[in-house]
Amino acid sequence: MAYDVVIVGGGPAGLTAGIYARTRKLSTLILEAQAVGGQLSWLYPTKSVYDYPSHIAIEGKELGDLFVVHARESGAEIAHEEVVDLKRLKSGFRLTTKSGAAYEAKTILLAMGMGLFEPKRLGIPGEAEFEGRGVEYRVRDRHEYKDRRVLVVGGGDSALEIALEIVASAQQVILVHRRGEFRAMEKNVEAVLKSPVKVLYNAEVTFIEGDDRVRRAVVYDNRTLKKSQFEIDGVLVNIGFEPKSTPLPRWGIELEGERLIKVKADMSTSVEGIYACGDIVSYPGKDKRIVTACGEAVTAIMSVYKHLRSPYWA
Ligand SMILES: Cc1cc2nc3c(=O)[nH]c(=O)nc-3n(C[C@H](O)[C@H](O)[C@H](O)COP(=O)(O)OP(=O)(O)OC[C@H]3O[C@@H](n4cnc5c(N)ncnc54)[C@H](O)[C@@H]3O)c2cc1C
Repeated sequence: MAYDVVIVGGGPAGLTAGIYARTRKLSTLILEAQAVGGQLSWLYPTKSVYDYPSHIAIEGKELGDLFVVHARESGAEIAHEEVVDLKRLKSGFRLTTKSGAAYEAKTILLAMGMGLFEPKRLGIPGEAEFEGRGVEYRVRDRHEYKDRRVLVVGGGDSALEIALEIVASAQQVILVHRRGEFRAMEKNVEAVLKSPVKVLYNAEVTFIEGDDRVRRAVVYDNRTLKKSQFEIDGVLVNIGFEPKSTPLPRWGIELEGERLIKVKADMSTSVEGIYACGDIVSYPGKDKRIVTACGEAVTAIMSVYKHLRSPYWA
């Protein structure tokens, strides 16, 4: 059976598209490789979101879960699958997944966000050894840091947000930043400087040690080369993400670079029957936010619907 629409990616864009597709009674399948809820559930589950209308403040995972429940209740099917190949058939498309499964679709909606990625590592002794035993790359649950002494490594917005997120319950939070000043948003910098977070500028972690888990780390000042040792319970590294290889360039769609899909105002791509929405799309003035991803998903589904009903729907 060919689905009316198969949506690749189960983040805010893909799940909203699923909800809207079901209001038009389209048979809908969402394929998600990593975590349903997208970046909200995987990357910042306990960070608060303050700009999603109707929720003054809501944690990432909670908002992501609400999207998932809504999509499922609407009748969209969701499967845990990584799409690796997309082929055009005489009519419609066939998607193949890493598990070897194949799905047929009359139309495709690509909502793959920033794609699949993994955290950048520091590449220092002890890091790999203690990964999962004190060394982490994202906050899965801020309550795990209660009464802990934690080094947060990084100087961008998400490192600052992580430090702010855990500082209320942690015993001590030390932010290790390799530059002499922050390049993050003024709002975050101001909040960190007003908070109990201790900031080490021009500082780099060079060594992580422990026994069954992390116990201490060595930090050096990259101007004076002076080394200091800190007794700690955890190291949270947040120095960015490295994208895993993307299948997009093989799919014959017009791209912007390797990872962004060029779309028209109706969210159609250069290939008839394939649409895209969310962080993965590129157009002048594009803003990567949850609400914009949701808005684009509605437009994309309206275009899918018109395509499927053509020429009977204007
Ligand atoms: C630290 C951080 C904080 C943020 N805070 C906010 C905020 O407060 N407010 C706000 O509005 N925005 C915020 N954003 C941005 C917001 O999270 C994104 O704009 C939003 O998640 C985009 O939704 P999306 O569905 O397009 O992509 P994503 O959320 O990235 O979802 C895409 C999904 O597609 C899946 N996928 C990728 N490739 C495949 C494949 N081949 N097969 C199957 N599945 C695949 C991925 O696993 C992912 O789950 C933040 C972003 C970050 C990084």
